Amino acid sequence: MTEKLFYGDAYIKDFNARVLSCEEDGKNFKIVLDKTAFFPEGGGQKADVGFISDAVISDVQEIDGRIIHFADKPLNVGECYDCSINWDLRFSRMQNHSGEHIVSGIVHSLFGYDNVGFHMEDDYVTVDFSGELNREQLDAVEEKSNFAVYSNYKINCYFPDSESLDELDYRSKLDLTENVRLVEIENTDLCACCAPHVKMTGEIGIIKILDFMRHRGGVRIVMKCGSDGLHDYRKKYTSVYEISNLLSAKQDNVSSYVENTMNELDKVRKEFYDFKISVAENDKNNLIVSGDCAYLISGNYDAEMMRTIANFGMESNLICLVFSGNDNDGYFYIAGSSSLDMKNAAKTINSALNGRGGGRDTMIQGKVTASKEKIIDFIENTY
Ligand SMILES: [Zn+2]
Repeated sequence: MTEKLFYGDAYIKDFNARVLSCEEDGKNFKIVLDKTAFFPEGGGQKADVGFISDAVISDVQEIDGRIIHFADKPLNVGECYDCSINWDLRFSRMQNHSGEHIVSGIVHSLFGYDNVGFHMEDDYVTVDFSGELNREQLDAVEEKSNFAVYSNYKINCYFPDSESLDELDYRSKLDLTENVRLVEIENTDLCACCAPHVKMTGEIGIIKILDFMRHRGGVRIVMKCGSDGLHDYRKKYTSVYEISNLLSAKQDNVSSYVENTMNELDKVRKEFYDFKISVAENDKNNLIVSGDCAYLISGNYDAEMMRTIANFGMESNLICLVFSGNDNDGYFYIAGSSSLDMKNAAKTINSALNGRGGGRDTMIQGKVTASKEKIIDFIENTY
């Protein structure tokens, strides 16, 4: 049996341990030590990573009562090695996990809902509760949770004997009867959990509920604590700072400035659209009629304008072609006809004018690489 150092002291970062066994397992080596501070995945918390000597430990699992360290190289059985866990990662997980217990305890005491799902991702935590909560209620939970942090309450983890366990009222997802480890947060929560926690709530730092959504008849919240919360604040602060500078707006009021700017932009877009269409409506009178065809070549139409003109031109002509561009960059085109096979017409235009494009039965669009002179010559000789 491996001695679980993380239960006696969750703050052990470096230790020396003897290798009891080392088995090859595909690309990895499964190492069992006489004692370990590596927490194996459990209680919703991921496994610690780190080093045993210079072997990289990428995962730790408790399998059939044995704590297996997955190493990238073999180690000598019987030999003692210096071991170290990635402390920054572990500590931030302890901050998030202890923060989650506070939030779950407070939700339970205020609203009676149970924590029915808990996931720790790399830099955030999600918690699912058995009932729905709105933003206002979650704000109250957040206030109370942070008050528990300011109060710097003790967090005590222990294995009670079965008699005292029977008398205790604690939160638990499973009906456990033996080896139950309780995490007691003074004045706040009592919950069964196997993971390492901080000793005092003050170490958690900020507890921030970022988002929430309906989930299986209850609510799922997204939260960050401690250094993850700080980094999130820094990232979002930078974003708000930049937006406020761009809009010359106060930082705590950027959203209304953004909303005004978006409304302004919508108005300008609509005005611009109306203007373009009015130009196109006017320019359709400039269509040149050649045989069965009407055409127009311009420098600065967009697709909307070209379509407006083409739709008009195809009403009283067999085919209407509208080009926009210049001799250097080529010309975009839109062509329409209510009686010709326009897929064929596209082939004819593309092969004569070195172009690409296609479209629906009545209207096609594309781009050609040819001079204005060549385009006129093609139209007048083809239609
Ligand atoms: Zn827990």
